[in-house]
Amino acid sequence: MSEIKYKRLLLKLSGETFCKPGEFGINGEYVERIAARIAALSKLGVEIAVVVGGGNFLRGEAFSEKSHIPRHTADYMGMLATVMNAAALQETLESIGQPTRVLSAIEVSAICEPFIRRRCLKHFEEGRVVILAGGTGNPFFSTDTCAALRAAELQADLLIKATKVDGVYTDDPMKNPDAKLLEEVSYTEVLQKGLKVMDPSAVSLCRDNNIPVVVLNIFQEGNITKVLKGERIGTVMG
Ligand code: UDP
Repeated sequence: MSEIKYKRLLLKLSGETFCKPGEFGINGEYVERIAARIAALSKLGVEIAVVVGGGNFLRGEAFSEKSHIPRHTADYMGMLATVMNAAALQETLESIGQPTRVLSAIEVSAICEPFIRRRCLKHFEEGRVVILAGGTGNPFFSTDTCAALRAAELQADLLIKATKVDGVYTDDPMKNPDAKLLEEVSYTEVLQKGLKVMDPSAVSLCRDNNIPVVVLNIFQEGNITKVLKGERIGTVMG
């Protein structure tokens, strides 16, 4: 435990980490791999809140553009998608013995508790991994913004954005073979250059509250633990 530099972690899991590249929905094997990593961190004594995305099912903006469903409704559908991911992650974590609670910003009382900051802190004390569903509870926001907001509210020491790529690149590495991985980037640089780290409102919230952010590949074994021990992995935004 003494080697761990950060006590409270806000982990943002994009919906795409729940399924195979290019696929949709939830792939049990992918969720198992993520759950194993989270449970290992919890055993090290790290307090963990996980904000889950929903892009493996639906992203409101894109969905509304190609349908007759207005943005606000499509966004609520996206928030419901995060609840599905949260339920899958909860069951998978508990199947390997990790106690959890799902707290949601939108009311889905049959399967989760409402998000209440003090309740969340109590769950940390009890050694539970807290899964935060429903984003901010408001349309026109993203789960990245939710992650920044909750990181500030819960006074997290670090925000990790877990993705399927190794960090932030100068360009899209899939399209440009010369794209380079950035080891370090400032909040202002991200905002000015429009780098794809998180959306601007999330970056501003992190900047205003001095929350360091690490973007990394969750499927590389041991990545998160290394970061928590102070190793440089992925891209650091600060
Ligand atoms: N969403 C929202 N408000 C929030 C968070 C999410 O309306 O506070 C909706 C929005 O439509 C978004 C979708 O939920 O596209 C899924 O979240 P996101 O796109 O952030 O998921 P990710 O890209 O991380 O998988």
